Amino acid sequence: MARYLGSVCRLCRRENLKLFLKGERCYSDKCAIERRNYPPGQHGQRRPKFTEFSIQLREKQKVKRMYGLLEKQFRGTFDLAVKAKGITGESLLVLLERRLDNVTYRLGFASSRADARMLITHKHLLVNGKRMSIPSYFVRAGDVISVREKSRKIGRIISAMDGAQRRGVPEWAEVDREAYTGKINVLPTRSEITATINEKLIVELYSK
Ligand code: SF4
Repeated sequence: MARYLGSVCRLCRRENLKLFLKGERCYSDKCAIERRNYPPGQHGQRRPKFTEFSIQLREKQKVKRMYGLLEKQFRGTFDLAVKAKGITGESLLVLLERRLDNVTYRLGFASSRADARMLITHKHLLVNGKRMSIPSYFVRAGDVISVREKSRKIGRIISAMDGAQRRGVPEWAEVDREAYTGKINVLPTRSEITATINEKLIVELYSK
């Protein structure tokens, strides 16, 4: 699968927002956006020109980067949201939130969504007791996500779980840290996604 290999801190600086792509570093004073809070590149410190299109594009790029997707995957998720019942923008965010890589991060088994993707593809996680290696799997209400017994000693999982205490667990899930297990009690709703996102701009952009 294609993936972005550049500096992820540049993405935060481009969006002028902490996207929390680097785990613990994001909470330290080494965070690039704390040090250089202007867009990257030679012309980064110039005053930007805002057009309707550029505002919509930035919103889409922000959400896409926050969830660690490339354009094709993001567009595919949007197409699923169009077919889903309800408001397209809200369905899009709920689908993104239901991705297994996001859920693994939210439950605290990984320090970032990229880290979660690595754990999933390396088969360190189980969904309902079965190995699952597809980061884009959409979790369902009642799903139980756990770390494989053999993988519970992996340093990055232990340190992620320690660091995740400050983030807390979303209301739609619960975690048993002793058992390395999390459960999806209900599906997330738009109101439980607290990041500042104007999903209507993304729908407008893709509707052109
Ligand atoms: Fe973004 Fe984290 Fe890098 Fe800060 S440290 S710029 S929040 S990825």
